[in-house]
Amino acid sequence: NMNLPADVSKIINILESNGHEAYAVGGCVRDCILGKIPHDWDITTSALPETVKSLFDRTFDTGIEHGTVTVLLHGVGYEVTTYRVDGKYEDGRHPKEVTFTASLEEDLKRRDFTINAMAYNETKGLVDLFGGEADLEAGIIRAVGNPTERFTEDALRMLRALRFSAQLGFDIEANTYQAIKDLAPTLERISAERIQVEMVKLVTSDHPERMRDVYETGLTKVFFPEFDAMMECDQVNKHHMYTVGEHTIVSMGLAPADRVIRLAMLLHDIAKPVCKTTDENGQNHFKMHPVEGQKMAKTVLRRLKFDNDTTDKVCNLVKNHDDRPAINERNIRRMIIRVGQENFNDLLAVKRADCLAQSMYHRQEKLQYIDELEKMFNQIVAAGDCLKIKDLEINGKDLIQMGVPQGQRIGEVLNTIFDRVVDEPELNNREILIKMAKEIIG
Ligand code: ATP
Ligand code: MG
Repeated sequence: NMNLPADVSKIINILESNGHEAYAVGGCVRDCILGKIPHDWDITTSALPETVKSLFDRTFDTGIEHGTVTVLLHGVGYEVTTYRVDGKYEDGRHPKEVTFTASLEEDLKRRDFTINAMAYNETKGLVDLFGGEADLEAGIIRAVGNPTERFTEDALRMLRALRFSAQLGFDIEANTYQAIKDLAPTLERISAERIQVEMVKLVTSDHPERMRDVYETGLTKVFFPEFDAMMECDQVNKHHMYTVGEHTIVSMGLAPADRVIRLAMLLHDIAKPVCKTTDENGQNHFKMHPVEGQKMAKTVLRRLKFDNDTTDKVCNLVKNHDDRPAINERNIRRMIIRVGQENFNDLLAVKRADCLAQSMYHRQEKLQYIDELEKMFNQIVAAGDCLKIKDLEINGKDLIQMGVPQGQRIGEVLNTIFDRVVDEPELNNREILIKMAKEIIG
């Protein structure tokens, strides 16, 4: 028994009282049965888009060529989509054309998984033609119809299967899983942007360890072969009990479910496979160059078309994740400046997850170091120490008044002053800095 929000009921009632069929459909029905609050409500209807538009005051053409009209009620948008059959998929990406249909069954048949192919309204109750409710109960992701055909139509569905299995903690039904293994290389046809969306949902889910299945099905090989290298890179030494890839997977599960932090965990050891050496005793050593990891992480994030802000933040964490300066005020002030004050708490989270996913060897000492690092960070921030040129009690205008010519020289002088103040915060006093500036200018 589902409780439709009043406005969803209202949209369905208006469509029905005008002689059309209408149901809540897909993700919202799935989430309701699971007892979760849906993040949006989609409605499927026999009414044509033009009819939907004529029945409601405020609508937008969101994807009218696919039959979708957004109906706005009380400031919330509801996507109302006409029953449709997807035409032939010629490229494994987009249906060549969509055809509207009068049959709910046809509309449900085109959907990807049984748990996403249920419809509900108050007059007809649950419409579940493919055993979606039973699969929800049993925790199974199963393609609607023949999985090989469905993944041949749209290769993205393979990655969606793994994404849903990670979000819900479900297993993938055997035939569906086998079809993914068979067809994995065809993911190559799918745009990087669409792969990115599914990957982010997967790694920020409750079960990021499903990343292992993305590798085992052969999907990572298509868009993230660096991950395959990590899965296949052993690290036989006292700090580790897993391969680089397994360590990565475990570390994601131990980190907060934040997008930037989880992506940093996914990529933090990406350079290990390329800098591994093995000594005569069979011990692995990694001459890690922080810049190498940053470079490789950037290549992956660019490939998946991540925005610059995300890319910069993640690469910064990858680069600094293993930086361990001796803890004293000067060192940590410099570290905060290097990493960025706004990124420091993320770095602490990355370091903790990394440590907890290693072996027990020196774990207490490693965790204690991170605690001390955090304490020192908070202490420096609370003291209000100068951490940016902007925090200096002197600025470019002052220097110009003192006769420094406008341009590059101003920045140089400010940098020299900043460098001294970082090590001796008590120098950040206007009189002292003006005197210092005079000395520097000469
Ligand atoms: P989420 O909670 O992530 O939004 P969702 O199930 O709503 O999950 P959407 O991507 O928003 O997923 O898609 C809405 C519905 O459209 C799905 O439940 C499914 O029925 C159908 N659908 C989406 N993408 C596909 C696809 N590639 N192939 C077939 N059906 C799809
Ligand atoms: Mg949705």
